[in-house]
Amino acid sequence: MKYAQIREFDVSNGVGIRTTLFVSGCHGLCDGCFNKDYWDFDFGTEWSKEIEDKFIEFGKKKIITGFSFLGGEPLMQNKDIMINLLKRIKSETHKSIWMWTGFELEKLTKSQKEIIKYVDILVDGRFIIDKKNLKLSFRGSSNQRILHNDGFGNWENKSEFYDNKI
Ligand code: SF4
Repeated sequence: MKYAQIREFDVSNGVGIRTTLFVSGCHGLCDGCFNKDYWDFDFGTEWSKEIEDKFIEFGKKKIITGFSFLGGEPLMQNKDIMINLLKRIKSETHKSIWMWTGFELEKLTKSQKEIIKYVDILVDGRFIIDKKNLKLSFRGSSNQRILHNDGFGNWENKSEFYDNKI
């Protein structure tokens, strides 16, 4: 797995101050994608144990609310690496995990579903330029949803809640 960027203190992607990872690689090819440089799976730096340790240490800081994953496409990465990372965040920090994916929840593969088990909030769906709406919280087009994981495999659409709150 390669990554394009780590933001130690990110106030744009999710609630609070978050530590964010932008992974490299996406086949989404959405017209108007905000991060075209990150489509290439070879873009950026190889993920390693050292970087993983550093990333988790960043997020352990008191000021950090949680972790966020964007891309690229977090659900097209090496599954074992991703699950190991998410598990470590849960066990070592107990902080929330947000993830953005171009896939829709209902269309995820079995293997992608195994990854999102560790995610608290999933923002799903492709960016559709015709549905672009700058008033939405944490997403660019109205087809995208902010979904909450209840921890038992059920996801609730909380988009309206965030649109009214923020
Ligand atoms: S899924 Fe995200 S990263 Fe991929 S093309 Fe669409 S907007 Fe860009």
